[in-house]
Amino acid sequence: MHVTMIGSGYVGLVSGVCFADFGHNVICVDKDAGKIEALRRGEIPIFEPGLEQLVADNVRAGRLSFSTDVETSVAASDVVFIAVGTPSRRGDGHADLSYVYAAAREIAQHIKGFTVIVTKSTVPVGTGDEVERIIRETNPDADVAVVSNPEFLREGAAIEDFKRPDRIVIGLNDDRARGVMTEVYRPLYLNQAPLLFTARRTSELIKYAANAFLAMKITFINEMADLCEKVGANVQEVSRGIGLDGRIGSKFLHAGPGYGGSCFPKDTLALAKTAQDYDSPVRLIETTISINDSRKRAMGRKVIAAMGGDIRGKAIAVLGLTFKPNTDDMRDSPAISIIQALQDAGAAVTGYDPEGMDNARQLIDNIAYADDAYSAARDADALVIITEWNQFRALDFGRLKSVMKAPVLVDLRNIYRHDEVTKHGFAYTSIGRPMNG
Ligand code: NAD
Repeated sequence: MHVTMIGSGYVGLVSGVCFADFGHNVICVDKDAGKIEALRRGEIPIFEPGLEQLVADNVRAGRLSFSTDVETSVAASDVVFIAVGTPSRRGDGHADLSYVYAAAREIAQHIKGFTVIVTKSTVPVGTGDEVERIIRETNPDADVAVVSNPEFLREGAAIEDFKRPDRIVIGLNDDRARGVMTEVYRPLYLNQAPLLFTARRTSELIKYAANAFLAMKITFINEMADLCEKVGANVQEVSRGIGLDGRIGSKFLHAGPGYGGSCFPKDTLALAKTAQDYDSPVRLIETTISINDSRKRAMGRKVIAAMGGDIRGKAIAVLGLTFKPNTDDMRDSPAISIIQALQDAGAAVTGYDPEGMDNARQLIDNIAYADDAYSAARDADALVIITEWNQFRALDFGRLKSVMKAPVLVDLRNIYRHDEVTKHGFAYTSIGRPMNG
């Protein structure tokens, strides 16, 4: 099959290269000429484990190429995916669909023959209807089926997720697209990955419902962690105790500084806004959003409390800036609000992240950036772990103590045990665990 991917970001690039790896001929298009030039040189604009090699293999095999030219790629394609960004709209929190609609308009002008247009971007219910309307308005002769196929991959494990998905959701109202989509996903289908066909609107809602549920699950355990601290219980044991129940499941039950990233914050907000528009508010999700928002700054207060309550003029080292490990994505990372809270209280912050510092520099002003954990910690009055990169899981506490001004560790991801830190003379604070836990 000939496939065009419009938008070559985290989702478009990973999906495009995986489709090429399935044996399809794929052109990844982006309007960012710099990105396309870099990709043509073999440089990958994002950090995603395994991506560079997979791109190189598929380019070499002649199945994957990169272009800024929508016209030639769309005209030659059986399937065109839209994988552009759908950020929060400034001001009201609805999903900003301007990139999706612009892509639909561009695609419409160049369609030749029956073409399946697939929205892979996360879009509110009814967007497929509008994409179809735009295409018919722009090019009344275009023969298209507009399909919803939301993406569930996780950054940091994106290739594995794409190639071994729990399910593939395909929403369509035109049966001609069913065979085409089955063919596109054929290798996964043969591997027994469930293909769930639904109506288009249902598929659009499934993506938001999934993300909202996961955000709610994280927020639930975060609130349990706060309660654990008050009652002297251990949230990790609570997680295990409830997660072993098959009805609950153990994933997404790790207490931490609040969810962030390029999806959960904007998608929960967009769902809440859509639901309000339809006069069917999703109050659980509205509450989830507000709990999570206040949690990030509360984590700043937790650090301040761990340092004795007054941090004016103190130095704080922060390890991990991205919203989770194994990505360079800084969008809506909890680190941004936490660092801001520490700066507001008068501290000087030095940060280190294995992959996220280039992106962090665009978003976080007035902090110093270090080359590794130990140089970040030099002369610091406290060390804060915000993101649980593997390289922070076995820190040399003796070495840290020798370079820090005060041995204070605040572990917002619970990656250490109390005894293994305190035996080195550190004061240790974590999330939802008793002091001896
Ligand atoms: P991204 O910002 O990394 O990439 C979007 C790309 O689209 C950019 O490179 C941009 O230049 C390009 N673009 C925008 N308009 C274009 C146009 N008209 N023509 C060609 N290129 C255009 O975004 P992302 O993280 O890949 O997310 C894309 C969509 O997938 C969003 O709707 C997001 O919610 C959804 N999604 C993201 C993830 C994730 O983990 N990042 C997971 C599942 C779903």
